[in-house]
Amino acid sequence: MSSETKSHLFYQSRRRRPQLDRARGIYMWDVDGKRYLDGSSGAMVCNIGHSNPRVLEAMRRQMEKSTFGYRLHFETEPAENLARKTAGLAPEGLERVFFVSGGSEAVESAIKLARQYALAVGEASRTKVISRQPSYHGGTLGALALTGYAPLSAPFDPMMRPMPKIPAPRAYLDGLDPDDPETGRHYADMLEARILEEGPDTVLAFIVEPVGGASTGALPSPAGYLPRIREICDRYGVLLIHDEVMCGGGRTGAFLGGDLYGVAPDILVISKGFGAGYVPLGAMVAHERLVEPVLDAGGFLHGFTYAGNPLACAAGLAVLEEIETEGLIANAARVGAVLRGRLNDLMQRFPLVGDVRGEGLLLAFELVADRKTMTPLPRALNAFDRLVEYAYEEGLIIYSRRTRGGYAGDHFLVCPPMITTEAQVEEIMTPLTRALERFCAEAAPHLTDAA
Ligand code: PLP
Repeated sequence: MSSETKSHLFYQSRRRRPQLDRARGIYMWDVDGKRYLDGSSGAMVCNIGHSNPRVLEAMRRQMEKSTFGYRLHFETEPAENLARKTAGLAPEGLERVFFVSGGSEAVESAIKLARQYALAVGEASRTKVISRQPSYHGGTLGALALTGYAPLSAPFDPMMRPMPKIPAPRAYLDGLDPDDPETGRHYADMLEARILEEGPDTVLAFIVEPVGGASTGALPSPAGYLPRIREICDRYGVLLIHDEVMCGGGRTGAFLGGDLYGVAPDILVISKGFGAGYVPLGAMVAHERLVEPVLDAGGFLHGFTYAGNPLACAAGLAVLEEIETEGLIANAARVGAVLRGRLNDLMQRFPLVGDVRGEGLLLAFELVADRKTMTPLPRALNAFDRLVEYAYEEGLIIYSRRTRGGYAGDHFLVCPPMITTEAQVEEIMTPLTRALERFCAEAAPHLTDAA
């Protein structure tokens, strides 16, 4: 079927894409034989590359035994094994695992567990979950209420309970040094101020991406930020939830984003790279201390039909084994440093590249009209869309969003799978440079007009 044929599918827009034929490693081919380098691992999902034979074999073996066993009817070996393995990779005490099919489900599960815990320990007044602006925590209404990205949430605001937001620690826009612990303290103290403003006994939890994802463009936590956040949460009895949906799973050079900063949350959620695109899979991992009182008080009032299904869990287990046996976390750190260096080189050549940031292979660069003031490009240039299209034409897939809360600014995530080699970094840079040349040539007259 070609893109001229009417499609009965609809997603965000009318834009059509070529039909995918096959994918191997970091490459994908459409039905016309054109090859694409998956420079964003889909949406930062396919962390171990496409069609890994060992994962496919593990899935096939499981499919021959059973593809579904409802969790209220059976325990299954893959779910038990994956839960054990996941708990082993999580900080001490976070040893209870609830499987889901995606990131939004994981976030919903976390906030519902937090609420039930508060009820179980007699703190019924705690209902507010503070999050950051900008942030992305999911598309379902509970997770969307936590998301700080107004273009996606505004139409639904009247249907949701507003949740308090504090600014994300975007030191590079505020002229602060992200390596100075004073910077981390400055932004973390905004949480304390907000808790006090809301009334500490009304605040249930704070949810944070240890390394930001699509909404901030791979924004790392500044020095001292997360440890200070942990202290503040403890001071006011507020639960700390790490949203590891995008940064968890090894891409940052540590299994969890929180590990980079030595901070353990009360609950963490993980998805994308956890199933790595082989199956819809995610998990909420909670501290034993939260789960026991909820179970004692009558049980966790929550569930999804596909939670913990054996096929998804067998695939997830094989993904984690692959990451371990192939040393992919260390590779993400090593190749990520090379890629980051090459993205930094772009700043010499293209004045529009205003910032390069991230950890490991969770990397992004931002385009600006003026690097000194970090003034965004004129909105009408639609850089976030144009550059992605040019790269796509050149056979490179990258991922973009508008930086400033979704309304202005343009950043681009360059996040190839964790199996990427140093040589393949050059295969990314060549089409990316060509795409930037094309975009800069197009943008130049508009920038001169604006000046
Ligand atoms: N949390 C973060 C940090 C994400 O990046 C995403 C998705 O991009 C989600 C939650 C929601 O995940 P899903 O789209 O799988 O529901």
